Amino acid sequence: MKSYRKELWFSTNKRREFINITPQVQKCLAESGIKEGLLLCNAMHITASVFINDDEPGLHNDFEKWLEKLAPEKPYNLYMHNGYEDNADAHLKRTIMGREVVVAITDGRLDLGTWEQIFYGEFDGMRKKRVLVKIIGE
Ligand code: ZN
Repeated sequence: MKSYRKELWFSTNKRREFINITPQVQKCLAESGIKEGLLLCNAMHITASVFINDDEPGLHNDFEKWLEKLAPEKPYNLYMHNGYEDNADAHLKRTIMGREVVVAITDGRLDLGTWEQIFYGEFDGMRKKRVLVKIIGE
């Protein structure tokens, strides 16, 4: 069995952002040389997500509005976590949007549905953060 590991780094200009990382993940898969197996992709921070959905700007706007309704950024004193920090909302948003995705590898490609794309979801950005890509298979 072959095994591959890589860290991808992201630094957003805004506090919250969704980045389509499918091309970077595809590059990892090509580098790995693995043709059949499983790919795990996870955020290595507790205020960021990796998730799969549609690359459609309207939907991303809907996610932003929906997440702000569930866990608004402000007022900061809304949250017990915000004693020394101001990112309680980011922890909650990350939990809703998920930590990781697992994608099947078939014939050397990501076995995704027609509209499925892999996203990095940043909820407390403007600093460098990591995403892990781990691939196992043959
Ligand atoms: Zn925190």
